[in-house]
Amino acid sequence: MSSTRKVIIIGSGPAGLTAAIYTARANLSPLVIEGEPSSTSDQPGGQLMLTTEIENFPGWPTGITGPELMQNMREQAARFGAEYLTEKVTRIDFTARPFRVWVRDAEFSADSIIVSTGARSLMLGLEAESRLLSHGLSTCATCDGFFFRGHEIAVVGGGDSAVEEATFLTKFASKVTLIHRRDTLRASKIMRDRAHANPKIEFMWNHTVVDLLGDDRLTGLVAQHTETGALTTLPVTGLFLAIGHRPNTDLFTGVLDMDDNGYLVTQPNSSYTNIPGVFACGDVQDHTYRQAITAAGSGCMAAIDAERWLEAQHAG
Ligand code: NAP
Repeated sequence: MSSTRKVIIIGSGPAGLTAAIYTARANLSPLVIEGEPSSTSDQPGGQLMLTTEIENFPGWPTGITGPELMQNMREQAARFGAEYLTEKVTRIDFTARPFRVWVRDAEFSADSIIVSTGARSLMLGLEAESRLLSHGLSTCATCDGFFFRGHEIAVVGGGDSAVEEATFLTKFASKVTLIHRRDTLRASKIMRDRAHANPKIEFMWNHTVVDLLGDDRLTGLVAQHTETGALTTLPVTGLFLAIGHRPNTDLFTGVLDMDDNGYLVTQPNSSYTNIPGVFACGDVQDHTYRQAITAAGSGCMAAIDAERWLEAQHAG
């Protein structure tokens, strides 16, 4: 695995694996450095490894689980020659070509790199979160709202995401309690006004969620008043966390251009980063859509961009 590759793909969510399928079918023999198992998943594969049912990925009319979808994509790329390394990249050097990446002491090099390291939802840090994630606890209203028709649910957060998600969720839920640790929302005025005008949204100000109830499904939560310390139990069957996201870009600080929130910046309508030959796709460069299908679509773009860029280097 140590000779120079045509492509190394860093990250193995839907963006990275779609890039792997396309580059493998283009005979570029990609090496996917796919990450490591985490405390919440025994396999890499990104946020979908934490998702149970996916009903909105086109082509699966009866739904598919996140881990199954990722396994299918992984096998699909392997069929065309993609290789996998189940490790985390620990260091990179993109100052010269071939580009170099390290997994601890092992060095790998490639003519082009596709970065698809994704983003992660911020969590509250409660012990029960890993147990109940995807079992009543969710980090994505677009993905999971549909499962809560007629339920009483809650959303945590006070920014635009929380207000947008709470408003969206009122299409399904009978009641949405927005729990915020302050007495005012950080969200923009138009979003605040919309939420205040929505009769299905109730506000629980100055509260933090301190515990989640339920063994294998969420049955309620315990919220604590930030000033008095008083505890309140809410019997909700759904809880959506909307307290922000962090892109997984620490590795690229000072190397690849990032926006103020740490997302990689790609050139409009492409996956080109500021370094020719280094491409980015998926949630690591998308804080707007954050869907498996949009990540997969941008993985396809990165593969095509890389393929054409490599061809142009040889032609030059
Ligand atoms: P955000 O603006 O950073 O807001 C995060 C919210 O979560 C804040 O209200 C914060 O409370 C709260 N929070 C953070 N950690 C918490 C914790 N441990 N426990 C309880 N609450 C916690 O994040 P965002 O709402 O995801 O928005 C990110 C960016 O995307 C923003 O620039 C936003 O404007 C933009 N965005 C725009 C739209 C839109 O325009 N349609 C939609 C979504 C997002 P504090 O207020 O106390 O800090």
